[in-house]
Amino acid sequence: MQHNVATVFRERRCSNSCRVCPVNNQITSMFSVIRSSIARSSQGTCISSRTLIHTANRKSLASTLVLIEHKDGKLSSSSFNAVTAATQFGFPVTALLASSSAASAALASETAAITGVAKVILAKSDVYDHSQAEAVAPLIVATAKAGNFSHVVAAHTAFGKNVLPRAAALCDSSPISDVIQIEGVDTFKRTIYAGNAIAQVKSKDAVKFVTIRTTSFPAATPGDAVAASEASTASDVAPLTRWVSEEVAKSDRPELASAKIVIGGGRGMKSGDNFQLLYALADKLGGTVGASRAAVDAGFVGNDLQIGQTGKIIAPELYIAVGISGAIQHLAGMKDSKTIVAINKDPEAPIFQVSDYGLVADLFKAVPELTEKISK
Ligand SMILES: Cc1cc2nc3c(=O)[nH]c(=O)nc-3n(C[C@H](O)[C@H](O)[C@H](O)COP(=O)(O)OP(=O)(O)OC[C@H]3O[C@@H](n4cnc5c(N)ncnc54)[C@H](O)[C@@H]3O)c2cc1C
Repeated sequence: MQHNVATVFRERRCSNSCRVCPVNNQITSMFSVIRSSIARSSQGTCISSRTLIHTANRKSLASTLVLIEHKDGKLSSSSFNAVTAATQFGFPVTALLASSSAASAALASETAAITGVAKVILAKSDVYDHSQAEAVAPLIVATAKAGNFSHVVAAHTAFGKNVLPRAAALCDSSPISDVIQIEGVDTFKRTIYAGNAIAQVKSKDAVKFVTIRTTSFPAATPGDAVAASEASTASDVAPLTRWVSEEVAKSDRPELASAKIVIGGGRGMKSGDNFQLLYALADKLGGTVGASRAAVDAGFVGNDLQIGQTGKIIAPELYIAVGISGAIQHLAGMKDSKTIVAINKDPEAPIFQVSDYGLVADLFKAVPELTEKISK
């Protein structure tokens, strides 16, 4: 296009110089000013149209694949956060659902109903039982290649953390993990050093593999089924690993990662039995219970309750830290909570530096008193 403009310009200069130059040099210089301004504006048009074409091409080529997580025939709440993050690239969002169960058709239509999902690809096979990463990663790669996807997004859950780096490695890409903000199509913010610094990273990979922190993106809303569905054409890869068994901690209380109110117990609880004090308070408030690593390591509660750098990252409306000192590794998991309350007998405990409300008291007196006052 630039070449064409230059050609047109040469023809004009030729005809003008033949007619004008001999008569008036001023006209020649004026023409040269006009010429350069025509060239500039032509070039401008050229560049901007090239940019537009480039952008248009990129828009038509770029698209986002989001991994849908599910268990026991139910969509995981983290999938809804992942969809919100996926929509932020501004490209059409396709949801990939790998499931063997009889519930897969129902899961697919539930996924199709999530606001922001333009299409659902359902990969139905026994190999996807228990969402083993060794089976799901090749499926992601085959789907991403077949659909020419520019972005692959998953929630930063145990499943997402397990499967996405494998898929990225198969595509020779660097995965970008635990993203808290999407700055652009290739630029992301993520925390490092247990949440004490925020790194802005830019990916040059053709396909960007991203896991997102669920507490940093609101959940997409379930709505009426609108998205189209299709069956996956990728062939199943039987994994070299075999799923043997699982031990699931059953609880009627809200899931730790998505609960609005969480009571965290630390080493100060002294024993697992004493956690009953926290469960009684959580039940009054309609919340759930979490723990510090020290409490988990001491065997007071299971490690599925651990909050922090090596546990779950939560951001509830209200977090009550009971008998927790506030080590940075614990803060990494809860400091984005909207309101933080601390109960600790040590007034120098670091937890008081991040708490909105602090109570310097013996927890064995303060917690039952609080529970009693709430019941009134
Ligand atoms: C690589 C690495 C990763 C880690 N990951 C995590 C993680 O994910 N999550 C995590 O929590 N930790 C993690 N840790 C451990 C972390 O450094 C701390 O050791 C841990 O958080 C301390 O737990 P705590 O606050 O319950 O115990 P402590 O630090 O022992 O604090 C107990 C608190 O209870 C108070 N207390 C005692 N009795 C009472 C009472 N009767 N009434 C009121 N208050 C009382 C004390 O004053 C004290 O402040 C990690 C450490 C490392 C090195």
